[in-house]
Amino acid sequence: HDEEASAKSAATEANTGAPTIFDKIISKEIPSDIIYEDERVLAFRDINPQAPVHVLLIPKLRDGLTELGKAEARHEDILGHLMHVSKIVAEKEGIVDGFRVVINSGPTACQSVYHLHLHVLGGRQLKWPPG
Ligand code: AMP
Repeated sequence: HDEEASAKSAATEANTGAPTIFDKIISKEIPSDIIYEDERVLAFRDINPQAPVHVLLIPKLRDGLTELGKAEARHEDILGHLMHVSKIVAEKEGIVDGFRVVINSGPTACQSVYHLHLHVLGGRQLKWPPG
């Protein structure tokens, strides 16, 4: 229940648009295990992996995309690029034959970091439905 409580308290932090820890990961102020990077996106290993492969994929420029629920027409290009790069990440990690991409959007979905990110998960048999 501790885990549940901490997930909840993190998830109830308001979507304020304030800087997040991902800004420091993008600027390399704090270290991360980067597995893919281009001009627009960065992919790095999740610090608390939920599967043998658990990579976070983020746009370098947040541009209002604190969460998927804030997406607008101008974000279509970056959203499409993120989706394509999720497949490149899966290929690089050797899980392209079976992987899952998850986006938690908002407190009810237990989003904890308000900078859009795709979770790329795999390397084990995944269950359905997710929690
Ligand atoms: P979400 O709950 O969907 O907002 O996902 C946020 C994810 O960021 C969680 O899976 C965390 O484990 C992960 N995370 C938080 N801080 C770091 C960090 N410094 N490096 C890597 N992953 C992180």
